[in-house]
Amino acid sequence: MKYYMGIDLGGTNIAVGVVDEDFRLVGTHSVPTGRFRPFEEVVADMARAARDTAARCGLGLEDFGSVGVGLPSSIHPKTGRVVFANNLGWRDAPFVEEFSKHIPKPIHVANDADCAALAESLAGAGRDYPTVFMVTLGTGLGGGYVHHGKLFLGGSGLGIEPGHITIVHGGAPCTCGSPGCLEAYASVTALIRETIEAMAADPRTLMRDICGNDISKVDGRTAFDAAAQGDGAARGVVERYIGYLATGLRSLITIFRPHAVVVGGGLCAQGETLLAPLRAKVAKYLYAADIFPPPDIVRAGLGNDAGIIGAALLETQAVRDS
Ligand SMILES: [Zn+2]
Repeated sequence: MKYYMGIDLGGTNIAVGVVDEDFRLVGTHSVPTGRFRPFEEVVADMARAARDTAARCGLGLEDFGSVGVGLPSSIHPKTGRVVFANNLGWRDAPFVEEFSKHIPKPIHVANDADCAALAESLAGAGRDYPTVFMVTLGTGLGGGYVHHGKLFLGGSGLGIEPGHITIVHGGAPCTCGSPGCLEAYASVTALIRETIEAMAADPRTLMRDICGNDISKVDGRTAFDAAAQGDGAARGVVERYIGYLATGLRSLITIFRPHAVVVGGGLCAQGETLLAPLRAKVAKYLYAADIFPPPDIVRAGLGNDAGIIGAALLETQAVRDS
């Protein structure tokens, strides 16, 4: 049996997993990342967690051809340096060089959104489709495109940033510094902002009751929950949110022409309440939709495991490249 090792480094946890040759997760282990610790300490903990996870599965590092790592950052494809990871406080950090001091094996590194896209494409909701575009709705809006099993990283090798396509000229400010990005309208952060604005404008909305009139308790579910009970203001928030998401997805679908769009992140728990109107809005103005049917839009299947499974499966990409 062949095994793959994947590490998903997040701001909260270092999650490690072992994946078998059928792309099933056979063992996981996680340790706290620790906020803003020295880069070298976090990397040493990652290597230790990798050894521990292998041992828990009755394996040793010699049973793995490589180690795959997903990081919340862009990675320079040639130097293996982290470009910038704001939730870790890392800037231009020599990740691959440092990790190799602890585990002298081939290391494959990618952005965490790309890892999730790879996992859903090969082992999750997209596995029956030749080409898959994935979008993850979270604090930010990430995504990736997998073309016949191959992660598309663009000419630069830095990967794509679907959250930072512009959907509103001169629109709301985005964390990247530009106005009007898709992320500024279709991330969960944006949904919360719109929910709070709608609550301020309507003293009688159910959204106020749901969060006990405390805006610090507003989350991605508040507007959906109130809309489900017939609240007009909440319905407006949900309708606009799905409209913005559809606008961005329509452009991305027109460029990448995937067979399927996989929607992940916490918000996909809304299921068909989110996906059914999203499909309708995407299809309405999609270019040449009468000739080429819109791609299937489906809910992600791997949940939080997508990051480690995708990191582990980066080795399949390296084989394809050689
Ligand atoms: Zn942006």
